[in-house]
Amino acid sequence: MKAINHIKLEFPSIAGNVRLARIAVAAFASELDYDVSVLEEIKVAVSEAVTNAIVHGYQKDPQGIVTLTASLYDSSLEIVVEDRGRGINKLDQALEPGEGTDPERMGLGFVFMRTFMDELEVTSEPDQGTKVIMRKKLPGEVKAQWFNEN
Ligand code: ATP
Ligand code: MG
Repeated sequence: MKAINHIKLEFPSIAGNVRLARIAVAAFASELDYDVSVLEEIKVAVSEAVTNAIVHGYQKDPQGIVTLTASLYDSSLEIVVEDRGRGINKLDQALEPGEGTDPERMGLGFVFMRTFMDELEVTSEPDQGTKVIMRKKLPGEVKAQWFNEN
């Protein structure tokens, strides 16, 4: 299916870019009539996915490039966060609460993503990278008027 609208962002694996990514998606989603609380949840989900790409995927190596897309479809918003970093060895395990590989972390990132979004799909290959796809149903119809603004 073709997206009605989309943005694509590429940025180096630098911690400060988590905020940038969150704000970009929030700006995109703010056109879609979500409640403020839902927008906040989408922002948390994006932050978690991008933080994982930077911290785990690239281990903060700024040579790593994170790709983020936000796409609007007829009835959903889809957000994809992708890295070409070290990948996840035991994916099933990593998706469980408290099963992170870093004892300093809570191991709750994927739990937040799954809780706050309607769908979460993760694919990962060791040493190839990780792709996180998240979808959220739209609160209503995309307004026809949206296409006629000038
Ligand atoms: P928290 O998100 O609560 O700070 P966490 O990052 O360890 O802790 P999750 O976000 O749930 O927890 O991720 C679980 C584990 O999956 C991570 O500890 C890490 O081992 C692995 N992981 C997640 N995303 C990636 C990624 N993009 N690349 C490589 N490994 C990842
Ligand atoms: Mg995490």
